[in-house]
Amino acid sequence: MATRKVLAGARVVLPTGIADGGRVVVEGTRIAEAAPADPARARTAVEDTAAADTQVVDVSGHWLVPGFVDLHNHGGGGASFTLGTVDEVLTGIRTHRLHGTTTLVTSTVTDDMDALALRAGMLSELAEQGDIAGIHFEGPFISPCRKGAHSEGLLRDPDPADVRKLVDAARGHAKMVTLATELPGGIDSVRLLAEHGVIAAVGHTDATYEQTVEAIDAGATVATHLFNAMPPIGHRAPGPIAALLEDERITVELINDGTHLHPAALELAFRHAGPHRVAFITDAMDAAGFGDGRYMLGPLEVEVSDGVARLVEGGSIAGSTLTLDRAFQRAVTVDGLPVEDVVAALSVNPARLLGMSDRIGSLEPGKDADLVLLDADFALKGVMRQGEWVVDPQLG
Ligand SMILES: [Zn+2]
Repeated sequence: MATRKVLAGARVVLPTGIADGGRVVVEGTRIAEAAPADPARARTAVEDTAAADTQVVDVSGHWLVPGFVDLHNHGGGGASFTLGTVDEVLTGIRTHRLHGTTTLVTSTVTDDMDALALRAGMLSELAEQGDIAGIHFEGPFISPCRKGAHSEGLLRDPDPADVRKLVDAARGHAKMVTLATELPGGIDSVRLLAEHGVIAAVGHTDATYEQTVEAIDAGATVATHLFNAMPPIGHRAPGPIAALLEDERITVELINDGTHLHPAALELAFRHAGPHRVAFITDAMDAAGFGDGRYMLGPLEVEVSDGVARLVEGGSIAGSTLTLDRAFQRAVTVDGLPVEDVVAALSVNPARLLGMSDRIGSLEPGKDADLVLLDADFALKGVMRQGEWVVDPQLG
């Protein structure tokens, strides 16, 4: 297998902008050069083609973008990250990799505390092996008024001791906890998380504007799927959305699947927060990359029809069946966002939030060779993770 890979002729999205006809050189698991190459240092194309250890791929007419980073994902490929066996969880991760997600945080849904602690232990082993970037606990510390697809009987107030129990069970791999910060213990829990370097995410919340400001001042830095599972903006009660959108310290998660958000709501958030404060997430459940049918989301039954997941009881939207390649394509072709801004929302910003910008999130020498190849219509045509093709380039 070639240890050196040269991808030539693409439109490469770099931290400095778009390089036309650029090349990316991969050596081993890392990026050795990212276009525009230094011609003095680069081997010539003839030398590359002749070298036995080198695979040269002409990707003219295609885009090369950094691998996608998903902060919020509950499953895929028929598998649940909350309930599945290790093999099933790996199947879910693999499914999302096939769609360009080279870094993934597994999200749990509300369950009882012992089950979640046990799950955290299992997922932390996958984090240690490098299969996932960490764990996001969504629930049980959320508001019964905004529970979405979480089991009401298992919800509880964010008592810092309970929050601590889950963080400890994750053995250093807890990355984010979503909580309704207005509940008793909420603000102390935000402080606790911030002190432990875990992202406190405001979500599934019934907080007022003022209560949300207090949570941000205490150290919250993410809005869990902004707009969804929180009060709408009112003219005298602007609520959490206004507080989260206006504050530079907050990155807002958006589910860009065409179901969770009206395009105008997405545009409003993108414009107001600016491209450096948006993270596109999937919030995917088991049916992502798999198909319609009946599934379990934690303890609750979900019916997926035409790619939309809803609780059997009550009909709440229950996660998505989105993959990040579709979120990318939709953002450019339907929402009309600039490619660089979409790359920020899918790679740069979530990598920064995870504290992993030194290794992933952009195409730069020294970083992991995680990249996605897209055709001129932004359809996925190849995926590389740590220098290995997960999806071989399809250049037909
Ligand atoms: Zn979720």
